[in-house]
Amino acid sequence: MCGIFGYIGKKNASEVILEGLKRLEYRGYDSWGIAVKGSPNLVVDKHVGKIGSAKTELPKSTVGIGHTRWATHGGVTEANAHPHLDCTKQVAVMHNGIVENFQTLKAELIKKGHKFSSETDTEVITHLIEENLKTKGFASSVRDAFNKLKGLNAVIALYAKSSEIIAAKNGSPLVVGLGKNDELFIASDAAGILKHTKKVIFLEDSQMVILGKQIKLFSLPNGQPIQPRTHTLTWTFEEAEKGKFKHFLLKEIYEQPHVLENIALNYDGSTKELAGLIDKAFGTFMLGCGTASYAALAGTYLFSSIAKKHVNFSIGSEFKYQEDYLTKKSLVVPISQSGETIDVIEPIGQAKKKGAKIAAIVNVLGSTLYRQADFKILLEAGPEKAVVATKSFIAMVAVLILTAYALAKKQMMGKELLLKAAENVKQILKQNYLQEIIKLADQLRNSEHVFVIGRGISYAAAMEAALKMKETSLLHAEGFAGGELKHGVIALIEKGTPCLVMAPHDETYDDVISNAQELKARGAFIIGIGPKANKVFDAFLQTADLKEATMISQILIAQLLAYYLALARKIEDPDKPRNLAKSVTVK
Ligand code: GLU
Repeated sequence: MCGIFGYIGKKNASEVILEGLKRLEYRGYDSWGIAVKGSPNLVVDKHVGKIGSAKTELPKSTVGIGHTRWATHGGVTEANAHPHLDCTKQVAVMHNGIVENFQTLKAELIKKGHKFSSETDTEVITHLIEENLKTKGFASSVRDAFNKLKGLNAVIALYAKSSEIIAAKNGSPLVVGLGKNDELFIASDAAGILKHTKKVIFLEDSQMVILGKQIKLFSLPNGQPIQPRTHTLTWTFEEAEKGKFKHFLLKEIYEQPHVLENIALNYDGSTKELAGLIDKAFGTFMLGCGTASYAALAGTYLFSSIAKKHVNFSIGSEFKYQEDYLTKKSLVVPISQSGETIDVIEPIGQAKKKGAKIAAIVNVLGSTLYRQADFKILLEAGPEKAVVATKSFIAMVAVLILTAYALAKKQMMGKELLLKAAENVKQILKQNYLQEIIKLADQLRNSEHVFVIGRGISYAAAMEAALKMKETSLLHAEGFAGGELKHGVIALIEKGTPCLVMAPHDETYDDVISNAQELKARGAFIIGIGPKANKVFDAFLQTADLKEATMISQILIAQLLAYYLALARKIEDPDKPRNLAKSVTVK
């Protein structure tokens, strides 16, 4: 999690960094800090809470580093905010990840006389560097310190006696940006530096970079130099800005018609190739976490109904306990917005060792999953800055629909369906429809629970719809397979309990309507979402009849309901829900 941003150049470093951190804040927003190289000492500014419209009074400098934290070790306090300084206050370190052996390292350092001023795991890195500096140069000191760390980490360090920034990584992402007039940037994701440059170098695992007058890349294990490879980003700066919208979340919801049209019109080749891999494989396993896991779950229904093909599904963090049966003939399909989700990356590493082929579906070019996969489909949904995923989910589902149709040798049908879905999404985003959703949000705003049911592919839609409400509006919502509620949770239904019923015009309709009747008989307030009205619905949000793609419109409605519920419930910032962060890089 966490956002890292470093700068070297002629501008005022602290201002460039503060602005960069504001763009990266969706990665973590417990607290933040900046360190710049003053003369002669390092100067630090740290705060608890979100950056918002914060200013910083740091002295002018040409070198500095910044961090927005998502706490893992130690509470959200100023002392625990990054950077962490060594005993001499000459070294500043910022960190993304978890130092798994920090207790052992800390005990050793304390024995050597080091004094700790935070509860974080990060601080051991600073003191390790300090210890190394007694006998080595800055670069060797960082390298040796990093090589002692266990776990998946990205570290960035500043030293008062050097004008360089040194960064090293294993697991968590870091991207170097090459700006104009010898300006250099380093950030935890490319969207953070898009404003300044599109020329980037993605740091690989076990690499260290020295940013100074030049860029020097090294292998962490042996210290050997590596030739950097430059990539050009395809995203535009405007895509990564809020523009006329109040929140990124709403902006990204509005981008969905374009995302769908792009996939419908430009993904023939790539989805056909993926279909071929699935066809050839002896066992396909789709993996995802959170929202992406519901796309993977939807995939199991899509491949069954459209292509008569069995694909398996697992939550990323659980897959590592089920990998024993993978062989060289298996295909693993990790699905992730960021391509940095550690709970997906970890099992992929194990699957590769077993010889399984990896076909990733990701949104971020150059991300770890993107680089690790044998075959990849880039979602091209553009930067997704709201922590709550919207357009990336729709893109994942669209790619899976098209791939399933390609496997059934009916790709044209899949494309037409996606184009029709894009049209329906545009209709739903019009003012008169939005008013209905806003009215409903107002009606539901004081509810204690919301239940969402669906069957077949709409079961995946129900799960995702409930997740949207939980994350965005902090309202307790649960998704269920329509048939399951009566096996226990129906006990929670009381007079007026809102229940969303995903009712597409497919083989599940009659059964899910029966489930809705069962809920209504216990007093539930039934909100139907689908193409066909029914007497059991107390409220009805209509979608077009789009076969499997009806799910896309259902999810759009759930996204909007979650957003307007957040506003009705006066949630502080729907872009940054409590306790969450984008790009989950810790286990
Ligand atoms: N483990 C570190 C901490 O708790 C870094 C967390 C982060 O990635 O923001 O401070």
